[in-house]
Amino acid sequence: MTCDRCHSQISKDQSYEWYGKRLCEDCYIDVLQPPKPCDPAAVASAKATRAQLGLRGAEGLTPLQKQIYELIKEKGKITRDELARHFDLPQWELEKQFAVLRHCELVRGFKEGQTTYLTLMTNQDAKC
Ligand SMILES: [Zn+2]
Repeated sequence: MTCDRCHSQISKDQSYEWYGKRLCEDCYIDVLQPPKPCDPAAVASAKATRAQLGLRGAEGLTPLQKQIYELIKEKGKITRDELARHFDLPQWELEKQFAVLRHCELVRGFKEGQTTYLTLMTNQDAKC
């Protein structure tokens, strides 16, 4: 089969349904348009929602987000690759989860040499 958007050849298990269209992974990620990792408005609204619900820390996250949060907490720092392997998730799926955690100001990325790690955000960390 072919991707309805970019018309590249894809196999069935590489295809994604999106409003009745068949898309390759790249196009699917594109159309989903995950929230920008550093979007102050999204951070504010995520925080407001959580504050309204009286949520703190890992409360109010999905089970998967909690597991990601707990794993990072346990390890101190972790790369995206390690996370993807641990949860057996594609990178783009992980990015979506990470974006939520970041919007809730629970997790941040930092660079050490050439490697980007994820770590828990502390109150001392600068915003974005
Ligand atoms: Zn495509």
